[in-house]
Amino acid sequence: MTQQADVVVVGGGVVGLTTAIALNEAGMRTLVWTAELPRRTTSAVAGALLGGPVMTEPRADAMRWQTTGLEIFNELAARPHTGVTSARGRLVSKLGPGTPPWARDLPGFAECSPEELAGFPSGFWITSPVADMPCYLDYLVDRLCQSGGDLEVCTVASLEQPTAVAPVVINCAGVAGGTLACDDSVTPVRGQHVVVANPGLTEFFYEGGADDDWTGFFPHGDHVVLGGNARPGDWSLEPDERQTADIIKRCAEVEPRLADARVIKVDVGLRPGRPSIRLEEENADQGRLIHNYGHAGVGVSMSWGCALDVVKLVSA
Ligand SMILES: Cc1cc2nc3c(=O)[nH]c(=O)nc-3n(C[C@H](O)[C@H](O)[C@H](O)COP(=O)(O)OP(=O)(O)OC[C@H]3O[C@@H](n4cnc5c(N)ncnc54)[C@H](O)[C@@H]3O)c2cc1C
Repeated sequence: MTQQADVVVVGGGVVGLTTAIALNEAGMRTLVWTAELPRRTTSAVAGALLGGPVMTEPRADAMRWQTTGLEIFNELAARPHTGVTSARGRLVSKLGPGTPPWARDLPGFAECSPEELAGFPSGFWITSPVADMPCYLDYLVDRLCQSGGDLEVCTVASLEQPTAVAPVVINCAGVAGGTLACDDSVTPVRGQHVVVANPGLTEFFYEGGADDDWTGFFPHGDHVVLGGNARPGDWSLEPDERQTADIIKRCAEVEPRLADARVIKVDVGLRPGRPSIRLEEENADQGRLIHNYGHAGVGVSMSWGCALDVVKLVSA
């Protein structure tokens, strides 16, 4: 079969789209093959707060990836129609009183007053880029096409399948990336969000450091994304009514205007949980194979840093 592209990226979530854009913009014609359209992926469900700490990822590269991403997201927030904006909001925690030392270096840092803590023992204000994920994914698809790439809905049965059309394959299949790579360290970490009509909020609120249930809300224009939770090992994509009620209750305790906000929809996503992100080349029988999956709860924040490292690996 004739080669149609330099690279095929498997996966059209935030990691795959960003990787494909970075490859195209570096001069490599890249196709995205995705089982689901971007708005139907886990990536579409995220909040998404992009300037907070990323302490859950143990790889030494995580800080560099985070810094790279933050620079790019700040640039995107200054442009219209990207889905990324700059917002002020509170980061709170139940982990104990006192502000962590790194927090003071974050843009817009200010201690919360006792009333602003909303019952949490610690918290502070920051300014951070935030993404309205469905809009941001639309922007990424447009940018992919403008950079000469393309997206096709296609479910691959193996990572060898795309070598029929390109000599390099990048595995960005999220939680399915583990199955395709025979990597049993990947596990779904189910998360549920509730999207409500915006009763007039402009500032976000996020509880960091919580294991399973946390309180957070992210206003994006006419709607607010309320969160959230993390359920390792749960593959169900069905919204859970009890979790919906709990999420609304927790958020309304902080912001009473959310108590009666009209529910627009309930979104569920499967974070690709893994002990650490897998970004490396694997010796393959056919063509070249590079993995970029397992971003757990920080895939949006890490997407640009990881994508640019994939470009370096492909070019090496
Ligand atoms: C409730 C919630 C809140 C979150 N909040 C944040 C946040 O604030 N900040 C942050 O950085 N991250 C956040 N995350 C995590 C973030 O959403 C994920 O890390 C990220 O979406 C992973 O992106 P991905 O592209 O790797 O995977 P996905 O978005 O799952 O995309 C995987 C892609 O692979 C495709 N695919 C799968 N199998 C195949 C196949 N066989 N053939 C072809 N294509 C295939 C799928 O169709 C899809 O296009 C949150 C997640 C959840 C659930």
